[in-house]
Amino acid sequence: MTTVYKFGGAAIHDAAAIRRLGERLASDRTRPLVVVVSAMGKTTNSLEALLAAARHDDDTDYRARLEALRHDHLATAEALFGDRAAPVGERLGALFEELDRRHRRYRGEARPLHYDQTIGFGELLSTTLVAAWLNASGVATQWRDARELIITDDCHQAANVDWRATTQRIRGLGIGDDAIVLTQGFIAGTADGTPTTLGREGSDYSAAIFAHCLEAEAVVIWKDVPGLFNADPRRFANAVQLARISYDEAIELAWHGAKVIHPKTLAPLRHKGIPLVVRSFEALDAPPSIIAADGPDAPTPAFILAEGQALLELHPRDFAFMDEPRLHDIFGRLAAAGLHAGLVDLGAARLSLCLDAHPARLDPLVASLACDYALERYDALTLLTVRHPTDALLSALSGTRTILAERRNATTAQRLFLASECPATWHIPA
Ligand code: ADP
Ligand code: ASP
Ligand code: MG
Repeated sequence: MTTVYKFGGAAIHDAAAIRRLGERLASDRTRPLVVVVSAMGKTTNSLEALLAAARHDDDTDYRARLEALRHDHLATAEALFGDRAAPVGERLGALFEELDRRHRRYRGEARPLHYDQTIGFGELLSTTLVAAWLNASGVATQWRDARELIITDDCHQAANVDWRATTQRIRGLGIGDDAIVLTQGFIAGTADGTPTTLGREGSDYSAAIFAHCLEAEAVVIWKDVPGLFNADPRRFANAVQLARISYDEAIELAWHGAKVIHPKTLAPLRHKGIPLVVRSFEALDAPPSIIAADGPDAPTPAFILAEGQALLELHPRDFAFMDEPRLHDIFGRLAAAGLHAGLVDLGAARLSLCLDAHPARLDPLVASLACDYALERYDALTLLTVRHPTDALLSALSGTRTILAERRNATTAQRLFLASECPATWHIPA
């Protein structure tokens, strides 16, 4: 049975990291193996800045950013291959030419289409480099183009998978028993060959798609943390690792914004009962976290922070209620703006929504809502979500902080705080 590995940007961010990846795969006899790789380091962020420059017709900025990216990738190739870097350097160079051509061709089109024709070059570049390195260092690897394997609709930037077509394409690869297939995360394509993407951080989801279609034995996501914790270990000083957790619980954590796994990753795995293993690419001996059908009997409280939030409070004009036609209207506008409300609280004549303060999406939405509703907006907020809360936990976590909005049900509590009143590092109360 096939195993699927996924390595994110941090695992391949420079030549030394790519060397370590090569050593790991050389000493690991797991086969057949599909390896899904993201763009190097923060390349996708850099490509988004490039896209913005291209759309603003700022050619100087665009060129400078393109050259910086080209320089970084070629420098990595040189650090890996030394005086044998020319062939891979040429392949990278050709990808940069193609990226430039596509930016120029699509910059007059709608942003989502332009985005999907260009942003995936980060993954095309990284996998070209990594495949060349693996083959040069004796780990026979087949490079495959995920745009021809994961088939989606043309909902650009958040494409929906056509599972039947994708299963056919992926199974059609006929992966041999001893093979390593290396492919890109995040990118996909329509049936007629137009590139699409699965959403930021979507490489985890790509790995799950391959695993689902191949009925894989397991997916292993190699991270810069040893596993899944009950809170982001970078933000909570005393976060603890979860050894085993159910698909359902992990879906809740990801959906509420735990940034360790893309939220769409788990459902295709749960459907086929494929375990997801989260482990460290740095500390190979550290015990991983396993996400599978059964979790522990007593659920562990877990904590998720969403920063950079805005609160909108909407009131119907003319003394009306916040009734179904109004809710339908408001949520329709949210969907059209591509915004997700992390907290929703409804009163007779009030709807409170906590949203990512993404200026390009939120500002036009606020302008349009303000035409039809009385609206108040509060910015610079932090949303804390607690799974399996107790009163004592919530009150110790909240302290004397101002609570701008809150919501609680049997399994989840959420509180919205002023970011200025939140600590840089949180502590989970004993
Ligand atoms: P990759 O690029 O490999 O997809 P990410 O940066 O997306 O890696 O995910 C790993 C990061 O997720 C960690 O560095 C950690 O700070 C963060 N993180 C957030 N919540 C959690 C959590 N509950 N458990 C572990 N890591 C978490
Ligand atoms: N490179 C893409 C991103 O940064 C996909 C991923 O890393 O998962 O969003
Ligand atoms: Mg990620």
